Amino acid sequence: MGGGLSGLTAGIHLIERGFEVEIFEKSSVCGGKLSSFKERHLGCDISLEHGFHVWWGQYYNFIDMMKRLNIKRHLKEIHSIEIKVKGCANETIGFSPKVYPFFLLFPLLFSRNISFREIMKSGTIGLLILGYDKKRYDKWFDKISFNDLMKEYDTPENIQKVFFEPFLQAGFFAEPHEISAASFLELFHFYLSGNIRDFKCYHIGGNPQEKVIEPTVKYFLDRGGRVNFNSEIENLIIDNYKVKGIQQKSNDIHVYRDGEVIHILQTAPLERSIFKRSMPVQEIPEDNYIKVELPQNQTIFIGFFNGEIIALSGECTHAGCLLNWDYKEGRFICPCHGGQFSRDGYPLKGPPLIALSRFKIGENVKEPSYEHAVSQQVVHSADYFIIATDIPGVQGIANNIMMSVDEWQKDEFHKILNLKTSSCIVLRIWFNKSLEPDRLPVGFTSGFKFIIVYFILSQLNDDVKECSRKTDTQCIEFIIIKTPDMINLSDAKLLELVTPEIVEIFPEIKDTPMIDFSIMRHDNYTFFNKGAVNLRPHVQSSIFINLFYSGDWVYLDAPVFFMEKAVMTAKIAVNHILLKEGIAPNPIYLPNVRGILS
Ligand SMILES: Cc1cc2nc3c(=O)[nH]c(=O)nc-3n(C[C@H](O)[C@H](O)[C@H](O)COP(=O)(O)OP(=O)(O)OC[C@H]3O[C@@H](n4cnc5c(N)ncnc54)[C@H](O)[C@@H]3O)c2cc1C
Repeated sequence: MGGGLSGLTAGIHLIERGFEVEIFEKSSVCGGKLSSFKERHLGCDISLEHGFHVWWGQYYNFIDMMKRLNIKRHLKEIHSIEIKVKGCANETIGFSPKVYPFFLLFPLLFSRNISFREIMKSGTIGLLILGYDKKRYDKWFDKISFNDLMKEYDTPENIQKVFFEPFLQAGFFAEPHEISAASFLELFHFYLSGNIRDFKCYHIGGNPQEKVIEPTVKYFLDRGGRVNFNSEIENLIIDNYKVKGIQQKSNDIHVYRDGEVIHILQTAPLERSIFKRSMPVQEIPEDNYIKVELPQNQTIFIGFFNGEIIALSGECTHAGCLLNWDYKEGRFICPCHGGQFSRDGYPLKGPPLIALSRFKIGENVKEPSYEHAVSQQVVHSADYFIIATDIPGVQGIANNIMMSVDEWQKDEFHKILNLKTSSCIVLRIWFNKSLEPDRLPVGFTSGFKFIIVYFILSQLNDDVKECSRKTDTQCIEFIIIKTPDMINLSDAKLLELVTPEIVEIFPEIKDTPMIDFSIMRHDNYTFFNKGAVNLRPHVQSSIFINLFYSGDWVYLDAPVFFMEKAVMTAKIAVNHILLKEGIAPNPIYLPNVRGILS
C-alpha cells in the first residue's frame, strides 16, 4: 500500500526474488513526497519537486539501489552549505573526507560567531553526542524537547543557535521547542557521524520523478509488477493473527436528477449505510458551486457550466486532498500542494496532471440498496502486506481496523493514530538581479521566525538553471515553517509576511521586484515531536504475522532518517518475508550506529 519511495523499494526487492507484487497507490502518480511535476514560469517548462531533495553519503541502501538501477550517475556533490543565523555573520560548513570525530570540531573552531570559551563550555553536550547510543537515548530523552536538553546540559546559546538549530530545523521542519531531544540526538549523530569515512552530501539536479521514480517504476513493471493508481486502501480484512486482504475505498457516488430535484447518493459499506442529500435545481447558483460534504472525507461540487448542471469530485487528482472553490478566481485550489483546476475541472497549475472526476448526472436512476453497496466493495487478497503509505494513509487504515480487532490488539493502532505530521510551505521566487558570487547554493538558517532552509535553484535545478540562463533571472526556493496563523493566509499575504526575512538572508535582492513565484503547502511531513518514538510501529506488526510497515515514520533500531529510512525499512520488511519463505535475505547496509565514546 503506497507507491512512494518506500513502496517502490519493497516492490522491486520482492519482484527480484520471484514474488508476484501489486502496488496500490492512492494518487495518479508514483513517488509520493519524492515526485516532481512541471510548471511554466517565464515561458519555460520547469520541473519542480515537493521540496529540493538532498542525499547524504550515508544513504547506503538508497545509493546501492540507485547503482543497481543505473541512476547513481545523477548524484552530484554539494561541496559546502551556508549557515545563516539571524543577526550573525554567515558560516560555511565544508564537506570532504575528514577524520572522524575531529571534523565535528572544525565548524566550531573556524566559526565566525562562536568563541573559544563557548566551545570549552559545551563539553557536556559534546560528550553526550559522542556517546550516542540509540536504545538508551530513545529511552532517556524522548520525553523532553530539544530546548529542555540544551538547558539541562547548560549549552551556550551561541552553540545552540549556530551549530545545532540550523540542522535541527532543516531536518525536522518544526520549531526547536516541539522536537524530541532523542530525535535531535539521532539526527545529529546520523547526519554528522553516520558516515565516518566520507562526510559528503549530494543532489540530483532536480526532477526526481524522471531521474529516480520513473526508472524504478519501469524496473518494477518490466519484471511483471503491477501498479494500481487512484487506489486508496482504507481497511484490512483480518482473520485472527493474519491479514487476509485489503479493502480499497469505493467511490460509489451517484448523482441523479428527478424532475426539479438533484439527488446525491453515496453508499458507505463500512458504516453499513447510504448517505443521501437532495437539493432543488433552483438552489444551484448560476455562477458558483455548492460544496456537498459526504461521509468518508469526500466532497463533490455541484454547479452550472455552459448552462448545464455539472458535478465534480472535490478530490485533487494529485494526492487526494480536498479542494476549495475560489469564487473570486473562478478556480478550484488545492490547500496541500497548490494545484489549481479550472471551473470545469481541468488542471491549470501545480502538480495535478489529470482533470477532476466528473459524475454523470443520471435521470430516473434506481436508488442503490445497502446490499448493492456491499457488493461494490473491492477487496484484494495476498500472502503478505506492506503498509508503505504516509502517516495520514496508515491512520485512515488504523481508524477503520479499530472497529474489527479485539481489545488487546488495539494498542498498535492506537499508537499509530497518535502519530503527528508537521506542516511547511515551499516558496520559489524569481527575480532579475544577480546574487553575490560567494553565495552557496544550499543554506540552513536559525533564529528566523519563518524561513528554515533555502536552495538557489538557478544553480541546483537543471531546468531552472537553463531557464535562468535564457531569461537572465535567478530563482531561490525557501522552506517556511507553517505556523498556525498561516493556515488560511492568501499567497499575497504570505509573501508580504516573509519578504523581510528573504531580504535579511539575501540583502543583495532588496528593492528588486519579484517577477514570478510558486507556492506549495505540505501537511504530511513526518513529525518528530516529544514522545513519538514510543508510538512508532516496528517494521513487523506486533499483531499480524504477515503485515509490515515501511516509511520514514516507522521505528528502527539504527539511527537513520528520511529517504534512507524509507528505503531501509522497506528492505527490512522484504527480508522478513524472505525469511518466512525460507529464502536468504538481502544485505542491509548500516551507517555508523554508535558515537565514538559509546
Ligand atoms: C519539502 C520536502 C523536502 C524533503 N527533503 C528531503 C531531503 O532533502 N532528504 C531526504 O532524505 N528526505 C527529504 N524529504 C523526505 C522524503 O521525501 C521522505 O522521507 C520520503 O520521500 C518518504 O517516502 P515514503 O515512500 O516513505 O512516503 P511518501 O513519499 O509519503 O509516499 C507514500 C505514498 O503512499 C500513498 N498513500 C497514502 N495513503 C494511501 C492509501 N490509503 N492507500 C494507497 N496509497 C496511499 C501516497 O499517495 C504516497 O504516494 C523531504 C520531504 C519534503 C516534503
